[in-house]
Amino acid sequence: MPRIDSAQGKVVAAAIIVVLAVGYVIGLWSLLGEWLGALWYLLAASTLVPNWLLGIFAICAIIIAGMLGASLRPTRQAARPTQIHAQDTFFNIKWRWSYDEQARVQKPTPYCLRCDHPLMMKNVGPYGSVDRYECRCDHCGAVACEIDCSLEEFERRVLQRIDQASPG
Ligand SMILES: [Zn+2]
Repeated sequence: MPRIDSAQGKVVAAAIIVVLAVGYVIGLWSLLGEWLGALWYLLAASTLVPNWLLGIFAICAIIIAGMLGASLRPTRQAARPTQIHAQDTFFNIKWRWSYDEQARVQKPTPYCLRCDHPLMMKNVGPYGSVDRYECRCDHCGAVACEIDCSLEEFERRVLQRIDQASPG
């Protein structure tokens, strides 16, 4: 009997310890549960907000990346100068001109072959009534050529020569 009593006492003591332990564990877990609940709430909240922010950030990142890519990518207009300056010699005159964006010749200007000074067209026809011009350099006095047509016709011929000379 004393063995049994002793055994029962041990069982009771063990049961009390177990209950206390369980109670302690339950209490601990309830405390942990509260903490975990709070933590879960924070995590849930902090996962909801970043979902919004991440979406906005992702869209912003895509837009910025696209803009950066577009700005970094060389465009055709940036690669090709808007104005191409060219030079060639015909009619004993050095001609300089440029091209606009539609590759049209702009302002062919005559220059002296000898001193590179701009040339002047001077009407040398009798009484100024005949289309006869000298293409003369005021700087060195050289006469580059004589023109036996109107200035409009001469400009047309110049443009024709430019068209023939240009590779495109
Ligand atoms: Zn000259």
